[in-house]
Amino acid sequence: MALQDTLLKQLSESAGVSGAENEIRQLIYDAIKDHVTDLRVDTMGNLLAVKKGTGKSSLKVMVAAHMDEVGFMVMGVDSDGLIKFSSVGGIDPRILPALRVHVGKDKTPGVITWKPIHLSWKEKDVKKTDSFRIDIGAENKAAAEGKAQPGDRVTFASETIALTENIVRGKAFDDRAGCAELIELIKGDPFPFDLLVAFTVQEEIGSRGAQIAAQGLKPDVAIVLEATAAHEVPQSDDEPDITTVTKLGHGPVITYMDKGSIAHPGLRKLFVRVAEQLGIPHQFRSPQYAGGTDAAVIHVANAGVATITISVPCRYLHSPYLMLDLNDFQNVVKLVRTTLMQLSPSDLER
Ligand SMILES: [Zn+2]
Repeated sequence: MALQDTLLKQLSESAGVSGAENEIRQLIYDAIKDHVTDLRVDTMGNLLAVKKGTGKSSLKVMVAAHMDEVGFMVMGVDSDGLIKFSSVGGIDPRILPALRVHVGKDKTPGVITWKPIHLSWKEKDVKKTDSFRIDIGAENKAAAEGKAQPGDRVTFASETIALTENIVRGKAFDDRAGCAELIELIKGDPFPFDLLVAFTVQEEIGSRGAQIAAQGLKPDVAIVLEATAAHEVPQSDDEPDITTVTKLGHGPVITYMDKGSIAHPGLRKLFVRVAEQLGIPHQFRSPQYAGGTDAAVIHVANAGVATITISVPCRYLHSPYLMLDLNDFQNVVKLVRTTLMQLSPSDLER
């Protein structure tokens, strides 16, 4: 499948830093409106909908993907017209220097400041985020203030491109890949039950949207579609990096445990069984690494929700240049679709 055949390019290039998901939400709204009922935006900004099922099952099944992405927020403007900013979500300050960004709703292009090597070759220390500014080429403070108001969001400026037939590069695949997968599920055949759809907000700053979505929809079962860290890139002497978690091209990632949740054992077994049935590659996410997903708050919502996270492996998470394999993306859709078709209440027994 080629990049242009997916919605992924549009979704990942759209802006939606946590708490300011309007643009991405509108794009998803338009993409799904003809395929769902009960389409609504809740108080938090989550986009919720129902995909009507065949009526064979009364299970309440929610599939969630977060719309927001990590980015920055404008904090003010210096006397010389440089923009002060804070991170929204986890961004390593080591990637900031000379980064291209888009500021505010007009997407004013800018660059994060950096002292060139000619002036800094003796410096060894890693700078903190608050020592950087965004330079939009403004002549003075007033000119910059016309383009950047406190509270405005700033996104990575990064086009989504295909590097090879399968490997694509772009920003915000975390979690626009999950959003694109969910849209494909919505557009496909009906499931035995009504599918409760939740495109959530504010995951990157603590899954605040998902908490409210789960409270509102009251599902029995939840599948969280995510992007998770792959880092199989060789370090020196062709040694694999010891932080390898998952691998590109090795299929959907079935989470056993992460920092915020342990997968429901019945769902975990069902997903493995279906992956084997379908003969698609799959891999497991083990507990030793940081990071959680919306599953952390969903599984403990209400009186408890049988929950699992299914992810697509991505390199360079929380940077402007994530990489993913479209085969993994397609296999997630296939695996989740088939599993939902087979899901029965007996899978949820403890
Ligand atoms: Zn994510």
